[in-house]
Amino acid sequence: MPTQVLIASNNHHKADEIQKLLGNDYLCLSLSDFPDAPPVVEDANTFAGNAVKKALSLVNWLKTNNEKIEGWILADDSGLEVDALEGEPGIYSARYASDNNQNCSDEANNSKLLSKLKGIEPSQRTARFRCVIALAKTGEYAQPQIFNGICEGQISESASGANGFGYDPLFIPKNFNNSFGELDSEIKNLLSHRASALNQLKEWLTKN
Ligand code: IMP
Repeated sequence: MPTQVLIASNNHHKADEIQKLLGNDYLCLSLSDFPDAPPVVEDANTFAGNAVKKALSLVNWLKTNNEKIEGWILADDSGLEVDALEGEPGIYSARYASDNNQNCSDEANNSKLLSKLKGIEPSQRTARFRCVIALAKTGEYAQPQIFNGICEGQISESASGANGFGYDPLFIPKNFNNSFGELDSEIKNLLSHRASALNQLKEWLTKN
């Protein structure tokens, strides 16, 4: 029987990536399988703070609603840090183009980023994706285990490719000439910030 992992996200791209990266020993569920789970306000000022908040609110909700799921809760908080913008958009990556702190479309976020970087030469467009995962056991309201991953690269001058999600069409990983939007998902899954954090998580799960 595969181990159940409930991903604290509605983002099906993220959930698909995580399922692929964890492999068949794990069965990933997402918030689409629990549509009544309340949304979590991501108001912490770090990725780790938001990931822990998402994981523990779900542990709590499952418990108070007697939802029968046994396994792990996995909350990923991730985003893009651009050096020329002093780490922006960072924890605001999903809502970068919003005036009222709401998530907005990838197109709107990408076009805001491109306009902020207008005129900045390629060598100054370095950036990284960062992923922090909080892993909690269902039924246990204890401090989650934390895993960190980063992926270095740079921001291109225009969007290219339709693979992936979010800032993928603008992000060229280090040592490549194409964006994550253009590269195969298999390549992204070897290099990405999420892959790095999940490999550490998988290793940890084999010992716990
Ligand atoms: P979260 O769902 O609050 O963690 O927001 C993450 C946001 O960061 C997403 O909406 C994307 O804008 C961005 N992001 C995180 N990981 C990736 C990735 O792998 N590719 C592209 N954008 C990403």
